[in-house]
Amino acid sequence: MKKEFALALTLFAFILVAVLVLAASQNRLQPAQQLNENTACTVAMTEIIASGQGDVYNMEGAEVYEDPDFAYLVIYSVEGNEITDPSFESVPVDWLDEQKNSALQAEAWQLFADVIPAQNRDMIAKYRVFTDGADNTLAAVEQNPEDITQWILDVDMADIENKDLLLSTLVHEYAHVLTLSASQVIPDQEVVDNWNDYALLQKKAVACPDYFTDTGCSYSNSYINAFYNRFWLDIADEWAKISAMQHESKDLVPYYNALYQFYLSHSDEFVDDYATTHPTEDIAESFTYFVFSPKPTGDSIKEQKIRFFYEYPELVELRASILDGACSMEQ
Ligand SMILES: [Zn+2]
Repeated sequence: MKKEFALALTLFAFILVAVLVLAASQNRLQPAQQLNENTACTVAMTEIIASGQGDVYNMEGAEVYEDPDFAYLVIYSVEGNEITDPSFESVPVDWLDEQKNSALQAEAWQLFADVIPAQNRDMIAKYRVFTDGADNTLAAVEQNPEDITQWILDVDMADIENKDLLLSTLVHEYAHVLTLSASQVIPDQEVVDNWNDYALLQKKAVACPDYFTDTGCSYSNSYINAFYNRFWLDIADEWAKISAMQHESKDLVPYYNALYQFYLSHSDEFVDDYATTHPTEDIAESFTYFVFSPKPTGDSIKEQKIRFFYEYPELVELRASILDGACSMEQ
C-alpha cells in the first residue's frame, strides 16, 4: 500500500509526470477472453494488464507515507533507436554502481524501443534514468523544458526486473506523449514553467475553446478532446470539485478518499481507479487496456473508452506493432 500511496503523491505534483504503480494485482476487468489477434500471446497480455492493476486510492490500511530518496543518474540523448551522449548527474555514493550500469540502463530503453515504433516516438528526445529505490515510481514522461515540443522519458532502473509491469507502465507513459504532444495539444511554455500554478491553469482553461489538458489547449480534432467530450462532460463538475481538494490542504488523504469514493460510484466508467486521477490519466490508462486487452463488446462506458481507439486506423496499426514487439519479448 505504501507503494500505491507513493504513486498518488508523485502524481499530484502534476506536471504531467505520469506514473504508474507497483500495485497488488486485483483483477477487475475481463481477464480471460481471447485477444482478437496475437492469440499465441494472449496469456502474456493478460498478465501484462494484470500487472498494473490495483486500488491505488484505497487508503484503507495505508501506512504513513514518506518520500523515498530520489536521484537522476544519467541523461541520454535519443537518436532513433539509439541512446547517446550520456550526461552523468551528481549522485549520492550509494548509487554510483547504478549510475555506472549502462548495460541495465540500455536494457530498459531497448524494451521501450522494441515495442514503440521509431516513427511513433520521434518527439522523445531524451532518456533519463533515475532511481527512488525499488518500487515507488517506475517511469514518467515530461516535456523538455528547453524545447517543449520534445519529451523526456524517465525510467527507474531499480524497477526493470518485472518486465510485465514495466511494459504496461511504458505503454501508459507513451500514451501521454501520444495524446499530449505538439500535434495534439498546443505547447505552452508558460504552463510548463508554472505547472503548479493552479490559478494560471484555471485562467488558461477558460481561454481554451477546446479541452484544456493542464499542459496546454488541445486541438479540436485531438484524441484527448474527442475523448473528453464523449466521456467526461457528465462527470466533469463532480470530478473538478474533488480534484480541487488537492490544492486546498497539505493533507491529501481527504482528497484521495474522495477520489476513491468517486471511482466506486462510477466504477463502470473507468478501467481502474487510477484513471479517475485526471482525464489525461484516463485516456492513458484506457489506451493501455486498448493495447493489451481483447476488443470489448459490452456497453459499459469503460468498454466504450477502450473501443474509442479503434475508431482511429493509425492507432489500430500502432496497437498491432506494440503487440508484435511485446509478444516477441515475451517469447
Ligand atoms: Zn500517467
